[in-house]
Amino acid sequence: MRTSRFTSVLLAGATTLSAFAVGAGPAVAAAPDPAAVTASPGDQEVEVFAEDGAISRAKVPTASPFVAEPVMNAAGAAADGAVTKIVNNGSTDSKLDVVMIGDGYTASEQDKFRKDAAAKWKDISAVEPYATYRKLFNVWAVGAVSQQSGVSGDPKQDTVRKTALGSHFWCNSIERLLCVDIKAVDTYAAKAPQADLVIVVSNTAKYGGAGYGSTQSPLGYEGIATVAGGNGASGQIAVHETGHSLGKLADEYVAEGTTPYKGPEPGQPNISTLSADRMRQDKAKWYRWLGKTSPDGGTVGAYQGAGNYPSGLNRPTDNSVMRSLGREFNLPGREAMIAGFYRRASPLTSGTSVTTRLTATDRLTVDLPVSGTKLRWYLDGKEVTALRDHKTIAVSDLGPTGPKPSAHELKAVANDPTSAVVDPALTPALTRSLVWSVTR
Ligand SMILES: [Zn+2]
Repeated sequence: MRTSRFTSVLLAGATTLSAFAVGAGPAVAAAPDPAAVTASPGDQEVEVFAEDGAISRAKVPTASPFVAEPVMNAAGAAADGAVTKIVNNGSTDSKLDVVMIGDGYTASEQDKFRKDAAAKWKDISAVEPYATYRKLFNVWAVGAVSQQSGVSGDPKQDTVRKTALGSHFWCNSIERLLCVDIKAVDTYAAKAPQADLVIVVSNTAKYGGAGYGSTQSPLGYEGIATVAGGNGASGQIAVHETGHSLGKLADEYVAEGTTPYKGPEPGQPNISTLSADRMRQDKAKWYRWLGKTSPDGGTVGAYQGAGNYPSGLNRPTDNSVMRSLGREFNLPGREAMIAGFYRRASPLTSGTSVTTRLTATDRLTVDLPVSGTKLRWYLDGKEVTALRDHKTIAVSDLGPTGPKPSAHELKAVANDPTSAVVDPALTPALTRSLVWSVTR
């Protein structure tokens, strides 16, 4: 589903947090960033993920020297750009569409790519709140045929593989940083019917990945994560990245070489200049969650060090996935993620278009993708209580009719009553309705 989105870079240190905050509230003040001085205009800031879960940042070029058009035979031409729906939960209009693109897979390895992509989604969607909300997602696999199998920098730094997206380790001289060619990514992402999120799955078992924020792509997706298709730990990288893109969450880790934060209150929901007492007093930020046991362990409070700063900014818990890989989202993070899912997906869908004019003998079915969702039916604004939570109804169930058939409005209203979202500013997104015209 294409709705409002950020066009700014989401992930990087000072520059990015400022850009990120354009749509989310006041900006985080810029920290001194020596890299920015020498960076060329096309450089992209990315996150680097260590195998022990630690996260850091780097600036990388948007282009890859290892990108190459495939040398095509007939089989290759047929496979290149082929789009497969690997998770199908319904129409792109009502779902959040994840696009996975393979790199370093030759024409004969496209089945392997689709298997790796499916396995990666399995890893991501095992993490909450994805697990509970997995039916809000579609996952598309876009095949890209590479000349050579594997990726550059694996196994050795000087290993060269010419591939469709130019995946390479040792990006910016960092072994585990797996970069791609952004232009090539866009060419393939455009082949999917809709791209809300892009994940590049590279044909390697070596640990690595990268998190790109918005690349100003006209496709409107929220970010790119690169993951190693054959490495079990790398799905966690994508989980952290979607914390930024879908949850609009800030990092909760401290970046190397930063000084105490002295700026205004930032817009992101999971970092704050305020102490726990002050939050409670001002009814600000995550005050509703203070003292509650968080899924990532411990109690929600105000822990010093966040948003890449060693002090001056607090985080809600000691060690959530926004601080280290392989962790859970904390309570404020989980709330933001669910709200993010619902910005691009709906708690209520139906195979019967709302433009269908129903008559007295028709039946109507709706789908509630999230378990626990409540459903109400209204005829001309009045609830038909007998049909509460009935996903299939007959028009004849709607009660007595008048002497002559006449037109009426039939409305289905679905609400996800989850206790994981408590901010009244976010709860409206948890309710959705569909309206049909019915003659009876
Ligand atoms: Zn991050």
